[in-house]
Amino acid sequence: MSKVLIIGGGHAGANTAYALRKDSFDGEITIISDEGHLPYHRPPLSKDFLKQNMATEKLSFKPSNFYEEQNISINLNTRINAINLELSHAKAKDNLFDFDYLVFATGASPRLLPMENADAKNLFYLRRITDVLSIHESIGSAKNIVLIGGGYIGLEVASAMIELGLNVTILEAEDRILQRVTSPEVSKFYNDFHSKKGVEIICNAKIASLNAENKMINAVLLESGKSIAADIVLAGIGAIPNTQLADSIGLNCSNGIKTDKYCRTSIPNILAVGDCTSSFNALLNQELRLESVPNALAQSKIASSSIVGNELFNNEMPWFWSDQYDLKLQMAGLSSGYDECHIIGDIDLAEFIACYGKNGYLIAVDSVNQSKQFMLFKKALGNGFQLEMSLIKDKNFQPESIFSGSN
Ligand SMILES: Cc1cc2nc3c(=O)[nH]c(=O)nc-3n(C[C@H](O)[C@H](O)[C@H](O)COP(=O)(O)OP(=O)(O)OC[C@H]3O[C@@H](n4cnc5c(N)ncnc54)[C@H](O)[C@@H]3O)c2cc1C
Repeated sequence: MSKVLIIGGGHAGANTAYALRKDSFDGEITIISDEGHLPYHRPPLSKDFLKQNMATEKLSFKPSNFYEEQNISINLNTRINAINLELSHAKAKDNLFDFDYLVFATGASPRLLPMENADAKNLFYLRRITDVLSIHESIGSAKNIVLIGGGYIGLEVASAMIELGLNVTILEAEDRILQRVTSPEVSKFYNDFHSKKGVEIICNAKIASLNAENKMINAVLLESGKSIAADIVLAGIGAIPNTQLADSIGLNCSNGIKTDKYCRTSIPNILAVGDCTSSFNALLNQELRLESVPNALAQSKIASSSIVGNELFNNEMPWFWSDQYDLKLQMAGLSSGYDECHIIGDIDLAEFIACYGKNGYLIAVDSVNQSKQFMLFKKALGNGFQLEMSLIKDKNFQPESIFSGSN
């Protein structure tokens, strides 16, 4: 009987196990997780769970009896430290785990702030349930929170903290928030929206130092001379793929564990899924490292298919969502390299879709509170439709016409 060992019990790892059972794999499945909680949804950590609107148990994908029923062995608080390829086993502190197939689902870790006092007790990162529980302990007595980084994590936390009544400052090193992921138009929309809610956003912010006493930061000092009072500091400055273990056995890694479109690594019986990968996407004909739930879910099905001998491969259009206040941002496609941006809808009403074109064709959309229309664009992009920007820019264009053919 074949044995599949999955290192990591996040979205990608747990869903690989579920997919294997759905694909009628009847061998042994073992998930190893160095966290103390059953596999859980990470997105609420910067949203409802951070706002204390959600019980910890609600985060779990499945109740514990599900794993028993499906005969999936799950080992919590267990960290794999080494792998022996000759003997086909992985080593934790007190245990050895055999495998025929090994799946890396080790995720990513927050990029750490490289400065003095970054080890203060009131400086947080946001990746795990335990991070949020520690933040909760500090929120009660806090007035001022300083968020380092104006990406999704920073902005989602800003929205949660404003709702909890804190004074919020975002420090962004670039000249606009969300610079890495969206256009100036959409960045400006989010900048204005947060500012109206009371968030102070400082772009081009260069941090000079973190002022601390007894391991507690009380102010963040900028090179401009400005000092910002802080009871809590949270750094959301990106994530780094967890590839150390993969590196140690000679897997090909570069900004993630490299895989082909079947989620196979450079060693035949070893696969990799989720945030830890840089994987070949056949639809876009390029390697991508994506940090998103849809990517983790898609790759887990592909890895399972590869193990059971089916032929599923990665040709998914990347997509993502972010919730801030009552704004639902949904993004599909890759907008990098776009040469025109056309807005459909009304930015002032917070109901619009930014359509990105390259060489005359649509390559990506960012949608705010336009979920129905977004789904049409996502489907069209995912199916490889060549949508002309001239059509989209026509004042009579209706996204519904993409599939009804009425335009
Ligand atoms: C706060 C937050 C909000 C997010 N919001 C969104 C969102 O709104 N929409 C969206 O699409 N995506 C969102 N994401 C991203 C999404 O959660 C990730 O893309 C997804 O969790 C990736 O799943 P994964 O299984 O690859 O990695 P992870 O979920 O990181 O799981 C990897 C697991 O492996 C464990 N591990 C690592 N090494 C070992 C080892 N050696 N031994 C044992 N265990 C190990 C890790 O501790 C971790 O538990 C968010 C992420 C965060 C942190």
